[in-house]
Amino acid sequence: MKNISNITLRGKKVLLRVDFNVPLDKDFNITDDSRIKAALPTIQKVITSGGKAIIMSHLGRPKNGFEEKFSLKHTTKHLSNLLKTEVSFSIDCIGEKTSVDVSKMKNGDVLVLENLRFHSQEKLGDNDFAKKLAEHGDLYVNDAFGTAHRAHASTSIIANYFPKNKYFGLLFNKEINNLETALENPKRPFTAIIGGAKITGKIDTITSLLNKVDNLIVGGGMAYTFVKAMGGCVGDSLVEDSKLDLAKDLINYAKENGVKLLLPSDSLNANELNNNAVLQHSEITNIPDGFMGLDIGSDSITRFSKVILNSKTIIWNGPMGVFEMDNFLNGTKKIGEAICKATRKGAFSLVGGGDSVAAVKQFGLAEKVSYISTGGGAMLEYLEGKKLPALTAIKN
Ligand code: AMP
Repeated sequence: MKNISNITLRGKKVLLRVDFNVPLDKDFNITDDSRIKAALPTIQKVITSGGKAIIMSHLGRPKNGFEEKFSLKHTTKHLSNLLKTEVSFSIDCIGEKTSVDVSKMKNGDVLVLENLRFHSQEKLGDNDFAKKLAEHGDLYVNDAFGTAHRAHASTSIIANYFPKNKYFGLLFNKEINNLETALENPKRPFTAIIGGAKITGKIDTITSLLNKVDNLIVGGGMAYTFVKAMGGCVGDSLVEDSKLDLAKDLINYAKENGVKLLLPSDSLNANELNNNAVLQHSEITNIPDGFMGLDIGSDSITRFSKVILNSKTIIWNGPMGVFEMDNFLNGTKKIGEAICKATRKGAFSLVGGGDSVAAVKQFGLAEKVSYISTGGGAMLEYLEGKKLPALTAIKN
């Protein structure tokens, strides 16, 4: 991987794509700065090496041009505090004013450009727009793993203008190294744990994982579709009726590939989706009408934990239940704890996807797994075996 660790940055204008897509409150304060913090090592590397850091990012989903709530100017003060250095801002990301701002930079300076997505050409992967961005820099560095699965102007097309001077940032490099550790040559047994609401959106990931893992644990809402496909009664649980055949196919595919597919054996059910609902515990194949399964039960936790504790490589994406509500968080918490225990015993564990990361943080387990991926969508596409455009753009 061509990363910025060993290249000369002194005096160079480093065009750096980061992921500063942070949540802001109504007064434009940043409510979670994890993404900014994740990009700090690369920014620091550039400026302490005497380079000029020209920072590009998107923020939110602007519809058509400038919108105050999506302006990257709201990130500069916070970035400045974190870096303990002055950070300037340019009111656009292309055009004459921005070129002047760039030309005034001295070694070690940091300049944040305005939101790339205020120009519709960014998402369209427009060549001219990419060329205009490219004119700001001597080098192109991509550290935005969160958008690595997008062929946008600043994440992919722009690399064409830097055939010899394109590099991965330290975060991007770390993300790929960790995914490769898990997938390319995993220590076995290799266990994937997939949860979350629905099978839709994760079908390709599950299929691809069935070619790689020894055990596939399925929990969360999607498990009920598998159970119904096998003839179980799941009451009013979340079921994707259009995916029943697919679920059967996946179960058969696992058998043919010698992969152990573990479904929950019991379920914590409720008559309503809230913390005051009537609770009921049952076998997962025997959920009464009027009740829906909202968490895995204690027997499932024991069975899953046993497999996890015997694993040497573990990937986790998606919660085991509705962990946002106190009544239904136990399964997700206990599975998280089992992963941490396995990690302490020497397993490599990788957690990714917005909700699993939120869960791991909520339960205070973030420091106890091997790696937390910053890119949910990008990680899923990598797991699916798809080529990430931003990765290919720099590797080739
Ligand atoms: P995903 O984005 O597909 O990973 O889904 C995450 C969401 O799945 C979370 O908001 C959970 O509350 C939800 N979820 C997990 N288990 C269940 C379940 N048994 N029934 C309904 N929703 C669930």
